Amino acid sequence: MNLTAFEERINAGGRLNADEALQLYRRAPTYWLGRMADAIRERKHPEGQVTYIIDRNVNYTNVCVARCNFCAFYREVGHRDGYVLGFDEIFKKIEETRALGGVQLLLQGGHNPDLPLQWYEDLFRAVKQKFPDFKLHALSPPEVMHISRMSKLPVPEVIKRLIAAGLDSIPGGGAEILVDRVRKLLNCYSKASADEWLDVMRHAHRAGLRTTATMMYGTVETDEERLEHMLRLRALQDETGGFTAFITWSYQPEHTERGGHEATGIEYLRTLAIARLVLDNFDNLQASWVTQGGKVGQLSLAFGANDMGSVMIEENVVRAAGASYCMDEVEIVRNVEDAGFVAKRRNMHYEILGDPFFRDHDVQRMLELSTAREAGDTSVPVELMNYPARSAAGKKQRTRPISPVS
Ligand code: SF4
Repeated sequence: MNLTAFEERINAGGRLNADEALQLYRRAPTYWLGRMADAIRERKHPEGQVTYIIDRNVNYTNVCVARCNFCAFYREVGHRDGYVLGFDEIFKKIEETRALGGVQLLLQGGHNPDLPLQWYEDLFRAVKQKFPDFKLHALSPPEVMHISRMSKLPVPEVIKRLIAAGLDSIPGGGAEILVDRVRKLLNCYSKASADEWLDVMRHAHRAGLRTTATMMYGTVETDEERLEHMLRLRALQDETGGFTAFITWSYQPEHTERGGHEATGIEYLRTLAIARLVLDNFDNLQASWVTQGGKVGQLSLAFGANDMGSVMIEENVVRAAGASYCMDEVEIVRNVEDAGFVAKRRNMHYEILGDPFFRDHDVQRMLELSTAREAGDTSVPVELMNYPARSAAGKKQRTRPISPVS
């Protein structure tokens, strides 16, 4: 393998094909991949800034019919630990987020058969009415597919209605690996095939939304399939230009049906770096410190990442699978500055909002992550009674007196 020739081509803006990317991913030294990825990062972001967003990751329900075998978060319909957050609970989380300088919710949840499209529309409208400037980065492509199937409306119509209700952006969750062989083995093919995931994003971009893209690696996929995933994202980005950022993380095996082992930190850094080389039409790559920890997150800034993602106020999904790293804004900024960069707050479009919020405001340190709800809180929100349930358990719940959320 002639690394000098690759270096010259990449520095001249040349594009890697699948074979070339595979050769580099498998055989190039880690320091070399890092150096090349860092050079591209610097070319795209010459101002020496690393960005982050203050938002809150809220999972509105853990009830899910998809049953992906890598997921430790979901509960089956009718399970005693299943929950749906009430509108008031979500408003309270938004108020807490705003007090910390937060500008958006990352709102995702399980495929709950008892939440019709109207529930999402009413929630989004209510959020926008109370907090007009607050942004909703909500509902990954498989959730949009789920709502489309339940409502028997085509995906573009669902997206149009959600935008009218207040949707601002779609997060790139549920992509896992965009290869159907892998999706079938992970039992996530039926929630969305690779083509369906990409198609939701295509429709979202056509409707004017910007979205992110993700990749969860480290289950059953081959190196070739990881690269196929990246190349499919690159092709859609060529077509629409709608992706703001790419985020990759390793599978977290604890408490999952699939089990197994987690990929190493080196594998993460190599995967991030090759993504920076392959995804030449993506401006932003996030460091996934939530799964890798703060120190590997910081190292990511030398392997192609230019963004630290989100200050983590609340996290439920990765924690359910055994990882629970917590970094508040102070910690994120310290990691960024110690790595030699200037830390800047951004919005969902990666526009700079300003310097760290805590430097000008009196905010409390956040040393522990919040959860969707206190353990054991099985209260049912009052407004759920207004929506028809589809499952037998949901119908039964909505015909009996409920204990309202306080
Ligand atoms: S990953 Fe999402 S869709 Fe799959 S089981 Fe978990 S909550 Fe459901």
